[in-house]
Amino acid sequence: MYLSPDERTEKFIEKLPELVQILNLADAASGMAEIAEESTVVAGKWEFPLPSFTFGSKDPNAPVFIVVGGVHGLERIGSNLAAAFIKSMIESYAWDDAFRFVLDRCKICVYPLVNPAGMFFKYRSNMNGVDLMRNAPLDATEKAVKLVGGHRISPRLPWFRGMEGAGLEHEAETLLSFVRAHVARAPFAMIIDLHSGFGVKDRIWFPYAYSSRPFQWVGVAHALKHRLDRCLPNHVYLMEPQSKTYITHGDLWDYLTLEHEQRNSASPLLALTLEMGSWTWIRKNPRQIFSSLGIFNPVLPHRIQRTLRRHVTLLEFLMRATASWERWSDIQSSGTGLHSESALRLWYPGFTQANTQLVLT
Ligand SMILES: [Zn+2]
Repeated sequence: MYLSPDERTEKFIEKLPELVQILNLADAASGMAEIAEESTVVAGKWEFPLPSFTFGSKDPNAPVFIVVGGVHGLERIGSNLAAAFIKSMIESYAWDDAFRFVLDRCKICVYPLVNPAGMFFKYRSNMNGVDLMRNAPLDATEKAVKLVGGHRISPRLPWFRGMEGAGLEHEAETLLSFVRAHVARAPFAMIIDLHSGFGVKDRIWFPYAYSSRPFQWVGVAHALKHRLDRCLPNHVYLMEPQSKTYITHGDLWDYLTLEHEQRNSASPLLALTLEMGSWTWIRKNPRQIFSSLGIFNPVLPHRIQRTLRRHVTLLEFLMRATASWERWSDIQSSGTGLHSESALRLWYPGFTQANTQLVLT
């Protein structure tokens, strides 16, 4: 991966400054974090690294917090935010004993740019036209939203899932392998995948997207919401199952969640998606709707700063919550607790108990 700073700047600064920034952060983080190139993505004459950062405990039995960015190539702000979080950790490492305490207790991984070729060429999808967040071999059990929910009509249309039976795209497979390796033995794992482009509110989604039924750890999701509401009382987030907004095919986090429930059902895995509400940025600066990136990203410098500032605070909260998961997660030996009942009342009024039947296809 280690293009020299001059080489990486020359190759990528114009069309993919996010990658230059991430590689520069990898240099700065050496000695504090394990830096790896998980694989590469080749697109014509271009070759893009897929870097990862792993801070903190090396104990495979430690809880894990994983931040993911850049799944959709148009949503640059997700990779910007992942990079801002890495930078904040690098700076904290030098002086912050409280942060060192967190690092002793848990592992913190950042996979900041899943789809570098898409970002470079300004596609939501990867270079095969596949929407990586519709690519898992998992069909919705209820009616998915037309097109947006994923389809197999043509890679020329957005939200294409890939051809039937074609398997996971390289970027999706590499991401899932990375996440699986880190969550396999963790007693608790939290993932947050950073997206933008929907609605006026900043949303925190949790599984499922393929079904409106509750997932195994809705009680943990509710316990987290409870802490978030109290610790950051002025926060802006609307937290709910993704299925409340729309049902989709092929969601990678659904797939991983179902797989984890089968392999490791005693250990909570909470795969969150932060969906930054880009319509506010458009409302405040309507001209940006005329650019493909403007629909998905803040454009004005002060708005970018405000966005990063707001959400880095959330990521730091979630990191600390992961380190102290046993103190708030309300997990009884049966995997349920009072929060499970509250979760069902709040988010699934039709359900009286969590049905965790697995539907992997
Ligand atoms: Zn997205």
